[in-house]
Amino acid sequence: MHISIQEGRSLPDLRQCTTCCKVFHCPFCASNEFHPAKLGKVQTHLESHFKRAVLHEGYTIHRCALNCRPGFHFHCFYCQSMLTRKPNFIKHLALWKAKPSAITPIIPDPSIPIIPVPSIPIIPDPSIPIIPVPSIPIIPDPSIPIIPVPSIPIIPDPSIPIIPVPSIPIIPDSSIPIIPVPSIPIIPDPAISIIPGGKMQRVRVKPVLKKENVPYAMFS
Ligand SMILES: [Zn+2]
Ligand SMILES: [Zn+2]
Ligand SMILES: [Zn+2]
Ligand SMILES: [Zn+2]
Repeated sequence: MHISIQEGRSLPDLRQCTTCCKVFHCPFCASNEFHPAKLGKVQTHLESHFKRAVLHEGYTIHRCALNCRPGFHFHCFYCQSMLTRKPNFIKHLALWKAKPSAITPIIPDPSIPIIPVPSIPIIPDPSIPIIPVPSIPIIPDPSIPIIPVPSIPIIPDPSIPIIPVPSIPIIPDSSIPIIPVPSIPIIPDPAISIIPGGKMQRVRVKPVLKKENVPYAMFS
């Protein structure tokens, strides 16, 4: 309900201004329409508001001069309409009153779209645990065989040579001299002939006898 619609002859609390001045403002007029003044002057001004007001359903609808829209106007008791001419405003209220839906004055104007308030975020209640829907069971499909993933084989890759760790060098110990043991001489054993094995092809060497030079008498 707009501030210009007051029950009976009630008025909003008149308080001394602490922001722009130190006097009183008219609750239905902007400062440019009614200049703030002392309480007595404001009360006299409010009497003129009552004279111009529209009485409806026990409410006093004051002529508004706030910055809702330019000029003096009346705020509808039922909808968000603002009407400037008093006869038109009274007709407007009568039309609303004739409607069966006008019993409850808190009916939104169908011309004004209902915009959801973005200040109320949909935050889940932490006291309510989020239980997964049991309608979807986590049963493995028997048509899909469960094969272990062969991506990590424990077989050494032949392309990667097993190189010994270079940090451990295979250098002979210098404290141990590589001198052949003198007790075992490396003298070839005459009993063991260094003749190649039987695999070698035997070559017959014919003895060359020179018949001409050697007389037979020597053999007789
Ligand atoms: Zn002021
Ligand atoms: Zn006023
Ligand atoms: Zn207004
Ligand atoms: Zn209306």
